[in-house]
Amino acid sequence: MRIHPRKSKKSHNFPFTGLFRCGECDSMITAQWTTGKMGVRYRYYRCTKKKGNCDQKYLREDVVVLQLKERLQQIALLDEWTDFMLRKVEEWDKSEKSSSGSMLGRIKENERETEQKLDELVSLYLDGDIPKENYILKKNELLKQKVSLAQKMDSARAEKKNWVEPLREWILDMKKATQLQSSDNFFEIRDYFKKIGTNSQLRDKSVSVSFCPPTEFARARNAEFLLSPYSAPSARQDFALSAEAVSKCDSTENRTLI
Ligand SMILES: [Zn+2]
Repeated sequence: MRIHPRKSKKSHNFPFTGLFRCGECDSMITAQWTTGKMGVRYRYYRCTKKKGNCDQKYLREDVVVLQLKERLQQIALLDEWTDFMLRKVEEWDKSEKSSSGSMLGRIKENERETEQKLDELVSLYLDGDIPKENYILKKNELLKQKVSLAQKMDSARAEKKNWVEPLREWILDMKKATQLQSSDNFFEIRDYFKKIGTNSQLRDKSVSVSFCPPTEFARARNAEFLLSPYSAPSARQDFALSAEAVSKCDSTENRTLI
């Protein structure tokens, strides 16, 4: 006779556990299998109620997925928009590379000049052509210049990396929102919301997700576009994103994305 081992909770791999908190009591949301009246087994999600009393009911996984896909639809931008944005980023990338390339070149040139002046100064002093006080004064000035050039070099290098790539990645994320609407890979959907969403909650049988400012911006644009589909969204002042709003989501990036 075969002995069936008791199924442990760990053997299940529910896609959406760890994504949501309960909107009522802030406990984590857990998942389990259940069998319906017709003998169909399905997965559902519910509050762990670890923080005390909570009246929240369970929510079936297919409903969770449906609601998440609705959220994807809200932020998904038209392909022609994202393609246009990607082309624009490509242009910026090129001009950024050439301008930062020439900036780095200029700084390097200045560094070489400073180094040369220092050498000349030392020779003059050793040959007895200038008094010691003048030598020290001039030497300190040149050393200060050297330090400030090195700092300029560091910030020019950091700048170079900092904004084109995150922008490109964000646009590709927006494109992915369209692709995932027809995906059955729930793990991929979960990972996507973990990446672009914040504060994901389940409450009263509905999913709620907040987005970071650039994505929230896309959602607001979409909502406006759906209201008046005949006029393309314009660069309206009230939609403008501040650098502060954008940097809220990622403290390492302080550049405005749009
Ligand atoms: Zn709860």
